[in-house]
Amino acid sequence: MQVFTGIAASPGIAVGRLRVIDRRRVSVTEYPVAPESVSHEIGRLSRAISDTRLELVELHSRLAESSGHEHLFIIETHLMILDDQRLTTEASEIISGSLINAEGALRRSLHRYRDMFAGIDDPYLQERISDFEMVIERVLRTISGTPVEQVPHDGSMVVLAAHELSPADILQLNRANVLAVVTETGGSTSHAAILARAFELTAVAGAEGIADIRLDSLPVIVDGISGTVYLNPDQEVFQLLLARKQQYEYVESELLKTAALPAVTPDGYTLVLRGNVEIPEEGASLLKYGGCGVGLYRTEMLFMNRRDMPGEEEQYQAYRAMLQAVVPHLLTIRTLDAGGDKLLDGMEHPTEANPALGMRAIRLSLGMPEEFKKQLRAILRVGAEGAVRVMFPMISGIEELRTAMNLLEEAKSELAADGVPFDNALQVGVMIEIPSVVTLADLLAREVDFFSVGTNDLIQYTLAIDRGNEQLSPLYQPLHPAVLRSLKRIVEEAHGAGIPACLCGEMAGDPRYLPVLLGLGFDELSMGAASILKVKQALRGCSRATPA
Ligand code: PEP
Ligand code: MG
Repeated sequence: MQVFTGIAASPGIAVGRLRVIDRRRVSVTEYPVAPESVSHEIGRLSRAISDTRLELVELHSRLAESSGHEHLFIIETHLMILDDQRLTTEASEIISGSLINAEGALRRSLHRYRDMFAGIDDPYLQERISDFEMVIERVLRTISGTPVEQVPHDGSMVVLAAHELSPADILQLNRANVLAVVTETGGSTSHAAILARAFELTAVAGAEGIADIRLDSLPVIVDGISGTVYLNPDQEVFQLLLARKQQYEYVESELLKTAALPAVTPDGYTLVLRGNVEIPEEGASLLKYGGCGVGLYRTEMLFMNRRDMPGEEEQYQAYRAMLQAVVPHLLTIRTLDAGGDKLLDGMEHPTEANPALGMRAIRLSLGMPEEFKKQLRAILRVGAEGAVRVMFPMISGIEELRTAMNLLEEAKSELAADGVPFDNALQVGVMIEIPSVVTLADLLAREVDFFSVGTNDLIQYTLAIDRGNEQLSPLYQPLHPAVLRSLKRIVEEAHGAGIPACLCGEMAGDPRYLPVLLGLGFDELSMGAASILKVKQALRGCSRATPA
């Protein structure tokens, strides 16, 4: 048995077979070939290219069949690269011209593509080199007989392990096939972990060494509650974990029975508990868990795994679907929070030394006002159909807020001019995620309808702790005095201005923090749907009044 200790990223206990996705490069040896072997090498190359093509076609149709996998453009792009004769011609010419093997020729072609792309002025096109890299890597894996990183779709349930998984990777997983995910990187508030929780997929992050396991299908138990992974568990551990799994599932099903109970303390204080959602399917589970609407809709997921940006109409339809899923409850739509660890294929992202401090969230939106207004118009239109409010992520000061507000006003005028119905009184909030706006909270509170604290980022920026760095996770402390003082100030300034103080970071979903957040006076907490019941249970057992 091998035990990996990591970070509990998404609760649950999963028992399955390990499948490691290898993201590392295939090692390629270039060697000379005799002139009479040239046609043999070219044959190997052509076969590898057509086999890879078949693999991709098969993958494409499998993903197209399974629900929720509408973003197939990556595979389509890769097929286009393979179908273009240039790759075959170029690599074949290298084989015959330089008298080297097919693998070496493919690597050299890749270098040529890299040089070619580096000379292009357009940063978007420059980034497309990654598609060529992925395609050539796939062909190299085929030629060398190394299996291509794929999740089996044979109906077997797997525990997926990788050095790293991006939010886009998690979105693309066939969730009917994957029981749990284990990564070597990441923390409990990294976006991949947040998505895993949204999909109720057991996850452990920071399990160093897991991606080194070379044997597939080893039995594995993932304990997403303690953050431990047991590979080849012995009989004793197996029995223990199985019992724990049953116990966990029993407690969960008992908790579910409390979904309709009100979120109120024994001394009569009501706290509004809402859910954080990413995709419309989550609306239903939110209601199942008794969530009172959506406190944070992370719209960026709609922009991921695609090459183009969704237009106003597409966004309107998506937001409308989300609203309908939670009607008659409130839907809080956050404008695009891309950048950082959430890169979009349809957008130019500058290469940044410090992405978390770089071009992300509202900064990105304000840098492309026309795109931003499409989103605002879509939100305003949905606002005419139910209880909707909007909030801006990563606001750092008054100027920035006012610029965003002006664009919202412009969007309203455009809709009015077109005679399109919209909510003229749409409530506007800011996310409090940057220490500068904690300092300015009194000024900001006068200009908006609500505050929503994004503690994931606020803690990261207050304590200078990268939220996705597994090595720093012990230092990522929601109860750090500096964080508590900030939270206190935010609530006081919000209430001073007569607006509600909401909190939608991951801290809201951990019942251990409930007494503190209750005591600080928050009005609303928003969390991953699966946490609502536990937080409500804690709330129902915790009086707010100080004992006499
Ligand atoms: C936060 O930062 O707390 C938050 C809710 O936003 P995100 O996790 O999407 O950055
Ligand atoms: Mg944030």
